[in-house]
Amino acid sequence: MDADCIFCKIANRSIPAPLVFESPDVVAFQDINPQAPHHILIIPREHHSDVGALARSGQEALLGKILSAATQLAAQRGLDASGYRLVTNTGKDGGQTVRHLHFHLLGGRPLGWPPG
Ligand code: 5GP
Ligand code: ZN
Repeated sequence: MDADCIFCKIANRSIPAPLVFESPDVVAFQDINPQAPHHILIIPREHHSDVGALARSGQEALLGKILSAATQLAAQRGLDASGYRLVTNTGKDGGQTVRHLHFHLLGGRPLGWPPG
C-alpha cells in the first residue's frame, strides 16, 4: 500500500469505485475518462509502480492473474469476436500517468495503430 496512490485506495475501498472484477489479488474498474466504449483498468491489489517493478520483485505470477481477469472481462463483454486491446503504459515515454501498474482493456470500436 502506497498512502498517496489513488489505485491502492480504489483497491482497498477507501475511495469508492464500482469494481467490475474482484479476486484476492486483482481488481478491475471502469476508467474515469474512457477512450473507447469498453475501457477497463485491471490492477494488482498490491502496489507495484509498473510492470518492470513487478517483475523485479519476483511477482511475475501476478501477471497471469491479471491476464486471466482481462480475458474474462473481454469475453463477458462480447469482445472476443470483435477484438480488443490490452496494454500497459510504462514510464514517461510510455505515457504512464498513474504509478500503480494497470492494464487498459479497450474495445468496442476499431482502435488505431500505431499509437501516437
Ligand atoms: P496511464 O496514463 O497511467 O496509462 O493510465 C491511467 C488511467 O487512469 C487513465 O486512463 C485515467 O483516465 C485513469 N484514471 C486516473 N485517475 C483515475 C481515478 O481516480 N479513477 C478511475 N477510475 N480512473 C482513473
Ligand atoms: Zn498503488
